[in-house]
Amino acid sequence: MLQRCYKNRPLMRWCIDDSICFILVQGCVNSLLKIIVPSIYQGDDLCELKRHIHANTVDYRILKKLVQKVFPPCRCKDVHNKHKEALKDVESSRGGSGEVPVNISPVTQDCKDEYSGDDESLLEAENKMSQSEQTVAELRICPGHERALPIENTVMDLDVKEEGISTLLCYLELHHNAWLENMSHVYANCKIQCYGGPAQLQAIAKKCPPVAVAVARAKKEGKTFANTNQIDFNVVDISDSMGWDSGPVKREIKCLAWNMDTAGRPSKSGVMVEFSDLAYHFRSPGDLDVEELDDVLQFLHDRVQKQERTELSQLMFLCKSLTSVSHKNYWMCADDLDMKRNDKLKSIINNYFEKQETGSHIDDEDRDEHKVNPGMLSQLLSDIHQFHGLYGHEHSLNGRAIARVFHGISSPCFPASTWGRVRRFWRSHLNIDFNFVMKRATQELLRLR
Ligand SMILES: [Zn+2]
Repeated sequence: MLQRCYKNRPLMRWCIDDSICFILVQGCVNSLLKIIVPSIYQGDDLCELKRHIHANTVDYRILKKLVQKVFPPCRCKDVHNKHKEALKDVESSRGGSGEVPVNISPVTQDCKDEYSGDDESLLEAENKMSQSEQTVAELRICPGHERALPIENTVMDLDVKEEGISTLLCYLELHHNAWLENMSHVYANCKIQCYGGPAQLQAIAKKCPPVAVAVARAKKEGKTFANTNQIDFNVVDISDSMGWDSGPVKREIKCLAWNMDTAGRPSKSGVMVEFSDLAYHFRSPGDLDVEELDDVLQFLHDRVQKQERTELSQLMFLCKSLTSVSHKNYWMCADDLDMKRNDKLKSIINNYFEKQETGSHIDDEDRDEHKVNPGMLSQLLSDIHQFHGLYGHEHSLNGRAIARVFHGISSPCFPASTWGRVRRFWRSHLNIDFNFVMKRATQELLRLR
């Protein structure tokens, strides 16, 4: 809109008060172009705007936790190796050379740890594959598993907002290696209750394979079903372990609630099926080795840091650009239009849209950490110590969590509705650079341990 409006029309700056100004495009009343800019004279607004940028940044160790959740190890490689050994045995028993194609992945799902069928045709098909479809053979062994990560638990565990985690998952999907494939959210947990008692639960386990697998898994974990009429399980995990999509499995489980009589009329079966825990839903491989996991982690970290740097530099660019065409007081531009400044601002906006010139780095003079005087620093350190003393026992604290509270940035574990009342600390060090506060808080926490 800005690009459409400003061309061929004079720009005028209109001060509302000392801290906010609007830029208006004359003759464009219906689409009044308003840019709220930080006042150059106060600088407090810059801190306010920077809060929104720092709110989206995620620590390295949190990213590591997320990567571990997104790429849990699977058994595809083991299955593949077993399969290769079996093929080798077949080959050697026939007096062959013993060499077998290596990069073949006919068996992929966790549950398919045995193969069946005609060995000869399988071998032939695989030889054919290795010769003619080298690109396919180069693909990873694991084809990816359908996974569901409950949103609420993940958000609280990582202390990152829901949309923040979605963004990170999108970064992984958009990477040239396409580390995962995002799908629409699903309910991850399934709860089955049988009014007919334990016997009915056993009966539906016989009728419905996914329930049978869930019961078998629970028994493996030491649970007994002699006196229970209900079971909870992660339906997406169970479906994936069976090599099925979760959609049809859910439909089948839902059907357990109804019985059909001979005339095709439905009646209640006495089984209650409930799905809960809305979850991130994606398909990701489970055979990433340590180096690949490191690459994924480094990529995410670099991407998040780059985003923060870009947004900060854009904000500084906007501030500097508007500063360069601002008058000190509103009355200086209240009557006449300053054509010189008008043209200058136009050329800055033009360069922004056409050349994307924002100045990619932040100058040293812009860094607020250089503006911390000894008094501010000692107050900051004292507050960090007091904060740790008051809340260190009941909350898991880290440098970023403390810096967020000191800057008034809400997060899932430290929401504004609760922590905003702690006026002693909330937004108490907004004038000190966020990353500087975080660095000092981390150092102090390490010292206090
Ligand atoms: Zn796998």
